[in-house]
Amino acid sequence: MSDFAMYHALGQGSPNPNGPTRKDEPNKFRPTVAASPGGYQQSGSPAIANAPSQYYGTPNQNTPPMQSPGYFPPQGQVPQYQPAQDMNNLTNQMGSVGLGVDPGAQPHRPHKKKDRHAYHNIEGPGGSSQAFNGVPQAGTPTQFLSQSNSPGAPQWQSPQITPAMNQFPAAANMFNPANPATAAQHAARTGPGDQLAGSPASSSQGRVDPEQIPSIPRSRDAPAKYYLEHVYPTMEHHLPPPALVPFVAYDQGNSSPKFARLTLNNIPSSNDALSATSLPLGLILQPLARLQEGEQPVPVLDFGETGPPRCRRCRTYINPFMTFKSGGNKFVCNMCTFPNDVPPEYFAPTDPSGARVDRLQRPELTLGTVDFMVPKEYWSKEPVGLRWLFLIDVTAEAVNRGFLDGFCEGIMSALYGGEKEKSEDGEGGQKRLPPGAKVGIVTFDKEIHFYNLSASLDQAQMLVMPDIEDPFVPLSDGLFVDPEESKAVITSLLTQLPNMFSEVKNPEPALLSTLNSALAALTATGGKIVCSLSALPTWGPGRLFLRDDGNIHNTDAEKKLFTTEHPGYKKVATKMVESGVGVDFFMAAPSGGYLDIATIGHVSALTGGEVYYYPNFHSPRDTLKLSKEIKHTVTRETGYQALMKVRCSNGLQVSAYHGNFYHHTFGADLEFGVIDADKAIGVMFSYDGKLDPKLDAHFQSALLYTTASGERRVRCSNIVASVSEGAVEAMKFVDQDAVVSIIAKEAAARMAEKSLKDIRGALTEKTVDILAGYRKNFSGNNPPGQLVLPENLKEFSMYILGLVKSRAFKGGKEPTDRRVHDMRMLKAMGPLELSLYLYPRIISIHNLDEQDGFANENGHLRMPESVRASFSKVEEGGAYLVDNGQVCLLWMHGQVSPNLLEDLFGEGQTSLKQLDAFQSALPVLETHLNAQVRNILQYLEGTRGSKALTLQMARQGLDGAEYEFARLLYEDRNNEAQSYVDWLVHVHRHIQLELAGQRKKEDTDSSSSLGSTFVGLRTPYWG
Ligand SMILES: [Zn+2]
Repeated sequence: MSDFAMYHALGQGSPNPNGPTRKDEPNKFRPTVAASPGGYQQSGSPAIANAPSQYYGTPNQNTPPMQSPGYFPPQGQVPQYQPAQDMNNLTNQMGSVGLGVDPGAQPHRPHKKKDRHAYHNIEGPGGSSQAFNGVPQAGTPTQFLSQSNSPGAPQWQSPQITPAMNQFPAAANMFNPANPATAAQHAARTGPGDQLAGSPASSSQGRVDPEQIPSIPRSRDAPAKYYLEHVYPTMEHHLPPPALVPFVAYDQGNSSPKFARLTLNNIPSSNDALSATSLPLGLILQPLARLQEGEQPVPVLDFGETGPPRCRRCRTYINPFMTFKSGGNKFVCNMCTFPNDVPPEYFAPTDPSGARVDRLQRPELTLGTVDFMVPKEYWSKEPVGLRWLFLIDVTAEAVNRGFLDGFCEGIMSALYGGEKEKSEDGEGGQKRLPPGAKVGIVTFDKEIHFYNLSASLDQAQMLVMPDIEDPFVPLSDGLFVDPEESKAVITSLLTQLPNMFSEVKNPEPALLSTLNSALAALTATGGKIVCSLSALPTWGPGRLFLRDDGNIHNTDAEKKLFTTEHPGYKKVATKMVESGVGVDFFMAAPSGGYLDIATIGHVSALTGGEVYYYPNFHSPRDTLKLSKEIKHTVTRETGYQALMKVRCSNGLQVSAYHGNFYHHTFGADLEFGVIDADKAIGVMFSYDGKLDPKLDAHFQSALLYTTASGERRVRCSNIVASVSEGAVEAMKFVDQDAVVSIIAKEAAARMAEKSLKDIRGALTEKTVDILAGYRKNFSGNNPPGQLVLPENLKEFSMYILGLVKSRAFKGGKEPTDRRVHDMRMLKAMGPLELSLYLYPRIISIHNLDEQDGFANENGHLRMPESVRASFSKVEEGGAYLVDNGQVCLLWMHGQVSPNLLEDLFGEGQTSLKQLDAFQSALPVLETHLNAQVRNILQYLEGTRGSKALTLQMARQGLDGAEYEFARLLYEDRNNEAQSYVDWLVHVHRHIQLELAGQRKKEDTDSSSSLGSTFVGLRTPYWG
């Protein structure tokens, strides 16, 4: 019991359920590889004793630093996870709709070692006599087996051989469940054979076994297990873990995939070669991404008045891929190859191998991601601690529906920790905001009220701004205060606000005037606005009206509703970006009413902020979610007044950006009022020449921003990819999550100009293009009728089907508020959040193994396997968690066991009807099952994007959320789209037509414009 009982104790707060204790802990494994980051990470001080094992900057050293004996599995050993085997079996079963997975079996010659190659060993496991690139093995069954050892195969398919080295102590055993695994709980299990009536999907041929088509749950579960015990070394491996999988990255000079993911980690040298794949060449950047426990924080480097060294010609920042020559007097830019003089203060001699002798003491020369402090020339105004300005809607609807109450409570929880947290640490919660950060409070209905929050006052003083036509800021001192010093004043005000306005009850908020006066208050410093809104702002300047009456859905005119032409909102948004101000909105439509998110949310989208939307806000059910999300917004890493620039190697150029930001002309930097840990940007590249296969392709993103504590910095992320003449290698290093992200972001960007039907059609076409391209050019000798999927794009079609079924793009009726909201989210979310959004994680909790949901012997939470998103997988009497990163449903079958209910919800709770439909969290009970599920929920809480995890009850036959459950079963026929099986059959049919030269572009209204632009890799490929 001690093994699995301990976890729950952890679960109360500190260590990450998915936390450390990795066997190949970065500092210990393979010290000869890039020893410096290891040393750097180990001590936090750069000194390290190891002899320099030069990686870059040692062109004469051909020895691959990559292999230490034994890391890769000996050939012939059975890997832990072999989807290919299944695929192989499937091939035999599927007949005319044959499905195979091909690892890139086309014969090709091994290529020569390259002097300056990022991945010295792409040829495959060192020392192997069966290196994949050696003798082609196409067509033989062994190709499927060998692929797991091939260089392109994910490393989680390899058995682990690395020595166990636990640096983290085992967690203390503090919790003993009173009722470990009751008999009742086991009785509640249902055999896997008991399926409901929902029939499994079948294809038109009726021959596809739905069990055998590529499974997203399996593609996540296997690597998740692997990365519990292994780190991801960013240079040695160049196929990142799936985005949803928690992992510890070991920065070896190439940025962690958490900050940057390339669609192709091996890039074809020419546009023609890339076109054969139909894949986009793009980069997903999430510059302030959250790191996980066990990862070293990004170092902050200070070069004083001179700032960080940069290339004089192209302004690239110093990075691990710049090389030194002339005894250390010159550094050669990795982007433009310009030889720069090393500034005297940065000089260090080079050793005989050409590396700087101080390289290992220099994080900027060893790490892919660093922060540089920057001097005054990078400032546009004096950087100060971040000003948080809370704009609180106090109109009637906010008061009546409990939204005001919830919002005020959420702010207090964000600033000071909630009541619960207070009792836990006894100190009244820890300080949430960094030193220097300040807060201010404004309330609004048809008037705007400012508050003096000076610590010297007994209570806050309200100043009403009478003229909303010409807003100004009625006070200078006391508007922004230190939240600790003024804690008493702030908490007292927030506690009283709901009562203060319960008598007033103005129905109409004057939002635009409030935003303008908030901007006036923040113009001098920049800052972040957090604004609540619970009714369509119909008062004062910029009043909005009901644009969506439901009559133009599914028409061409609908797309007008996805955007705004409102001059007032557009103007305030632009001015905010200029002043370094951004807005997060918390919008509730308590009666499901229209809020014109297209117009209001535009301010968030342009300034780099976010909209949290509660389409059917219900208090108290949703107040926990509201409170957690306010807290998340305030406490996540946030920078403001930011500019971003992406540079790349000669031969490539940026062709498009996708995301939420302000971009005033192409070629200019991207501008963000604010940017936070959850925001990602898609960057697409095109060729302006040919890449040299003897060199690598380099990318550097530089985000100039002010931290919440008031430091002006540049966050640099450096990404490197190898280059090959053709695209065969590229297909082995495709990052599926990055490809899906780029396509999703671009599709979202088209919503204002294309009809939804066109977009869905284009997504289908793109899927066919990519898979047909593979079939035509790379798949080797497979039977003609077989659907062959690239090894690293096996789940790609399902993710695209998820996108087609998403709220943003799905067919059928959907309020425009929800569509626009999801569309902007898609543009901004990172690959992790997107993965979950496109395919939910479903966990059955009625048949958990006794040890599931508790720590294993290494202290890692043992997670049960997840279930495919299909009703055919739902068991009679079952209970399921369904988490898509936005909502987490607890769906329970009508025949669920009363014992299970009692174990989960407490004594006497024996029927679905008895349960509180509005509970948003599980009670804390001392039953085994209750602890298991709470631990699992905590794990899910740690692997998501910006939305908080709370439970929403979806009892069969009782709760409306059951519809959402059905909607999220993306493998079934729903959302006016096909089942997964039918979708694959459809895609396959069109691939065959394409191969036969008979494919017609379909599914588009305006085939004249779209179909013809869908060739290959022109970027943007939407025309
Ligand atoms: Zn340069």
